[in-house]
Amino acid sequence: MNYKKIRIHTLILVFIFLLGCLKDKNDTKGQLPSLDGKKVLMVYGGWDGHQPDIFVGKVSKWLLEEGVQLVISDSLGIYTNKKIMDSIDVIIQYWTMGEITKDQFRGLENAVKRGVGLAGCHGGLADSFRKNPEYQYMIGGQWVEHPGGEIDYKVSIVDTNDAITFGIKDFTMKNTEQYYMHIDPNIKVLATTKFTDSIHPWIKDRVIPVAWKTYYGDGRIFYLSIGHKPIDFDTAEAKKLLLRGITWASGSKYNPKENTLQSVYD
Ligand SMILES: [Zn+2]
Repeated sequence: MNYKKIRIHTLILVFIFLLGCLKDKNDTKGQLPSLDGKKVLMVYGGWDGHQPDIFVGKVSKWLLEEGVQLVISDSLGIYTNKKIMDSIDVIIQYWTMGEITKDQFRGLENAVKRGVGLAGCHGGLADSFRKNPEYQYMIGGQWVEHPGGEIDYKVSIVDTNDAITFGIKDFTMKNTEQYYMHIDPNIKVLATTKFTDSIHPWIKDRVIPVAWKTYYGDGRIFYLSIGHKPIDFDTAEAKKLLLRGITWASGSKYNPKENTLQSVYD
């Protein structure tokens, strides 16, 4: 083999290597755990205005396409079923307002502490059980207002390196609620939205998280504030964020603990 041939072979190898790098860069699946074969519990109910049954129909379809084993319940009583709670990998809760009993909350809390992930969106995860501060402590934030009702607003991706947001560009949500949240300032914020002065002048330019990740015990918590109407998830970026967030949360039992601490006061 002469030098020219060796050079060509080397160039081909370098080309194959670069192609591999390019493929990895475009494929976030390697960084997220797979949902295939995972056990997912969907719990839905609460305030009817959020159309919990339609939300569950839509999201369960995505999940079944990913190969999950799905348990669906319209009762919070399922949180007291230790056998089911011990067997699942992630809970998706869509339950706006309502009340949770002590036993139901303990069942949910203990499962999450042991490493069951908890994911969800809008009022279904961060405006549930207003009378229960322990629940809010677990989620890392609570809805407090949506100035102007159904409006158009922009979502900015603030952490483009995270596996959940990787490759997603800033986008606009149309004719839906822009959630103003009170949050734990130590959550890892993935996306934000900026408020205008059109309804409440004093909140002009205030920036509020739209998506975050955190831990409670060993359980991964993912929250997305989008989702006033199930049709919100026809916006491709919103669907991607929720599905990837659920996928990330499903890995608590299997993947190493991530550092999600992002204290704004350090
Ligand atoms: Zn809403």
